[in-house]
Amino acid sequence: MPEKRLAAYRDVLNRTPKTVELHQKLSELFGTLVFHSDVMREYLPSETYKSMMEAIQTGTRLDRKLADSVATAMKDWALSKGATHYTHWFQPLTGTTAEKHDAFLKPVGPGRAIERFDGDMLVQQEPDASSFPNGGIRNTFEARGYTAWDPSSPAFIIGKTLCIPTIFISYTGESLDYKTPLLRALNCIDKAAVEVCQLFDKNVIKVNTTLGWEQEYFLVDQALFNARPDLMLTGRALFGHAPAKGQQLEDHYFGSIPERVNAFMREFEIESLKLGIPVTTRHNEVAPNQFECAPIFEECNLANDHNLLLMDLMEKIARKHDFRVLLHEKPFAGVNGSGKHNNWSLSTNTGVNLLAPGKNPKSNLQFLTFFVNTIKAIHDNADLLRASIASAGNDHRLGANEAPPAIISVFIGSSLTAVLDDLEKNIKAGKMTPQDKTELKLNIGKIPQILLDNTDRNRTSPFAFTGNKFEFRAVGSSANCSSAMIVLNTIVANQLISFKKTIDARMAKGEGKDEAILKELQVLIKASKKIRFEGNGYGEEWRIEAEKRGLSNRKDTPRALQVYHEKWVEDLFQNMGVLNPRELEARREIEFEGYVLKIQIESRLMGDLVNNNFMPAAIEYQNKLIQNIQGIIGVFGEKKGKEMAKAQIDMLQEVNYHLNAMKEASEQMLEERKKANSMDDAEQKALAYCDHVKVHFDEIRYHADKLEMIVEDELWPLPKFRELLFIR
Ligand code: ADP
Ligand code: MG
Repeated sequence: MPEKRLAAYRDVLNRTPKTVELHQKLSELFGTLVFHSDVMREYLPSETYKSMMEAIQTGTRLDRKLADSVATAMKDWALSKGATHYTHWFQPLTGTTAEKHDAFLKPVGPGRAIERFDGDMLVQQEPDASSFPNGGIRNTFEARGYTAWDPSSPAFIIGKTLCIPTIFISYTGESLDYKTPLLRALNCIDKAAVEVCQLFDKNVIKVNTTLGWEQEYFLVDQALFNARPDLMLTGRALFGHAPAKGQQLEDHYFGSIPERVNAFMREFEIESLKLGIPVTTRHNEVAPNQFECAPIFEECNLANDHNLLLMDLMEKIARKHDFRVLLHEKPFAGVNGSGKHNNWSLSTNTGVNLLAPGKNPKSNLQFLTFFVNTIKAIHDNADLLRASIASAGNDHRLGANEAPPAIISVFIGSSLTAVLDDLEKNIKAGKMTPQDKTELKLNIGKIPQILLDNTDRNRTSPFAFTGNKFEFRAVGSSANCSSAMIVLNTIVANQLISFKKTIDARMAKGEGKDEAILKELQVLIKASKKIRFEGNGYGEEWRIEAEKRGLSNRKDTPRALQVYHEKWVEDLFQNMGVLNPRELEARREIEFEGYVLKIQIESRLMGDLVNNNFMPAAIEYQNKLIQNIQGIIGVFGEKKGKEMAKAQIDMLQEVNYHLNAMKEASEQMLEERKKANSMDDAEQKALAYCDHVKVHFDEIRYHADKLEMIVEDELWPLPKFRELLFIR
């Protein structure tokens, strides 16, 4: 092996697990680095505490005096935990989180300083934001942006820094982040769902969105990672032949976790628990070196903050264990990719999960109302939901045969299908008799029993009902959940508002409440039928069937993003107060630009690796073959020698063929990249990158991977899949 590859390999063999000693129970660690309500009660004057709790629950602003008081308490608490700095922690549209640290320190005279942190510093900060993506908003309007405290998500300490969750907006008030529109969307669905709940229970005054995410990821040894420029720069292997042993034996899934990995998981779980992230589940995933971590679900805004924190923690702690985490949706062709299932539901202040079937006909009618309205929302807005999960990385996964397809559909299982079919067919036109109503209610009352033994699960559906929640499975592993959650909550809120209006109108015309609800549900069930699919989402038959049904199949990111141009999308976000047209346009631009940058980097790196790594290795091997062939001919003469060296001559030709083909495809890609780069419009550029640059990737890779199989192992410069995926 070339020295570089060999050295990495040796490093890996010498590793030992680094297990952290723990002298406390896990429960004693939970939330110790969080400024949560118990800590607030201890540190805040009781009046301030009350106002703070109110602000958290209602989302109102704290006045300046109260903010000062909270800031002082936060500072005292943070100092007691050894913190020296504070930062506003926010989620710019880069997809990761950002922070700018300031010391608590304030000089008050020569050689004298105090620890200072007041309400102003808590409430608002002005990070130097000029290099965050803004889609033109800050260029055209005001160059600065500022961060503002989100009291609904508690402050926490990482290292020596107090982190304050904030939103990030421009001076003209446009959101430049994920959190702002998420909070707006959560507010919308709260209001809309409460209105609908009031039909069933007057005690409901608040509805929270719950989110339980499941994070899939790969681990690769740090030394091997560093020997693979593609993993380092793009997060995925641009090249690499599938190993002889892949996941076909399925011996990794739920298998015993390797010790080194276990030590890593233990440490990052301990750190997560300290930050109040309720991680409980860990296991191996299907692919070799693939794992999953899932916490208990929480309120959506908090759950999302926690997911971002966890991704950050994983990266940091993996390095301590000589691993690197790959959050990319498809790091290795030929083995499973990674997703981030978003389990989603709605829960009331009265403790009811609105997507869990109830104990009696009344609560089941409420369940059906939310259930059917959600399906209708997905039906009407499928393209928008598709756009919310679009990314260059997820394009490799959606539609590949282990991930849900790019066609959005809803799976509900056979029992609920039967219930909906029943409602669809058996509600007669005209006024319902008391007997009709009793009969329907009786059927509805049976739902919990049938669901209990409803074991069917469909892993191939992008949006599946799983007994008491929907699971949005098409979200990419590296995504900020907000992107999907903003859309999902907005479209369901919109649907609930329209449902409530219709019910009110029906009742005004003299229909009884239950009758109005049942009849409207029937209308919705009929209107949304084509989005429901119970079969195998991976199959080619589904693609054909979906096309017949008129469902769209937007296969790549640029096509998916085009929906943001449509008037109905602009109207929807505008009417719901989630994104104004300027914010929407900015987001669209940023997404197109982000796509271009990703594909551009991959394309450049492919060219570099072809020229600087694969060509030289192949040529060196050719020279070895030529020397050998010439030697044999020298000894045995031309005729006999050529016969004897047949295998070598064949190989020489084969190497030559792939070398030329690889180089030619790479040149073509370069030409197309030049053309694409000369375009100004972000969307046109994204389309050009998708249709004309990226199309060459597979061909270049095909030939490079063939060379990997032919060229002598000793000469191949990059660690192979079998090393990346199986060595611990
Ligand atoms: P899997 O999908 O791997 O089979 P489960 O169905 O047990 O796993 O649960 C997956 C996730 O769903 C967990 O993270 C859990 O916290 C979350 N979850 C459970 N109930 C709810 C709910 N009401 N709202 C949101 N998420 C939920
Ligand atoms: Mg799941």
